[in-house]
Amino acid sequence: MSRIAYVDGQYLPLGEAGVPVEDRGLQFADAVYEVWALRGGRLLDHAGHLERLGRSLRELSIGWPVSPQALDVIVRELVRRNRVRDGLVYLQITRGTAPRDHPFPKEGSGPTLILTVRRKDPGAGDRRAAAGIKVRTMADIRWGRVDIKTTGLLANVLAKQAALEAGFDDAWLLDGQGRVTEGTAQNAWIVDADGVLRTRPLGNDILGGITRATVARIAAGLQMKVVEAPFTLAEALAAREAFITSATTYVTPVIAIDGQPVGSGVPGPVAQRLRAAYLLA
Ligand code: PLP
Repeated sequence: MSRIAYVDGQYLPLGEAGVPVEDRGLQFADAVYEVWALRGGRLLDHAGHLERLGRSLRELSIGWPVSPQALDVIVRELVRRNRVRDGLVYLQITRGTAPRDHPFPKEGSGPTLILTVRRKDPGAGDRRAAAGIKVRTMADIRWGRVDIKTTGLLANVLAKQAALEAGFDDAWLLDGQGRVTEGTAQNAWIVDADGVLRTRPLGNDILGGITRATVARIAAGLQMKVVEAPFTLAEALAAREAFITSATTYVTPVIAIDGQPVGSGVPGPVAQRLRAAYLLA
């Protein structure tokens, strides 16, 4: 069955879906996006992602193309039409189409809504989490408002590619003080030598992950101590465990950084417990 996309009011075969050349998402990355995990037919953290979408739109003064309630209906209908139970829902809202010029257009199409759904084998992520991933560190060269979930992801793309080409699974990005900001598309965590979970506090220098927030709540509910505080590369290397969180990886252990093992170099009990609890939540 061919995949169905949604673009501005129409459900179309993916190959026939498109946006005009002068869409500002294409011209300027003047667009925001969201990603939901779909597991066993359930949209994980659905409300949290919708809420963050509202924040991203507000920060960029882009209007809702349809109400959040209507969007909810469209997302579920697209999932139904694609007959996907395990996969990803990708949403993008651009500022719309207008003759290319930097200022926000006074006239134009209004915001463009794009949605796609992709099937994903849940087993692949589970196997990756069981093995753990190896990351390398790199300078964080992104712009100063990465808390807004925009499609301007070139620095993330380049970091991921460089990590893969060097034989790693992903990259962790470092600020000017040698502290970890986050991964290329995931938030970064450690379990420090005292067993305390640490992740960087919200600010303009990380994306406020929806999975991060849910995992922090789950950890607190399991009587784990969670502190929102930056950590350095040296602290990560001295940690008992490290892991990442995101809608696509849930909770996935990091077993080595820059070629040095974290803890005993295998997935740790805290990360494994949190992953299991997240998938049950
Ligand atoms: N940080 C970055 C840079 C991301 O791109 C993402 C997800 O795409 C995350 C963190 C994790 O966010 P979430 O848990 O909402 O998927």
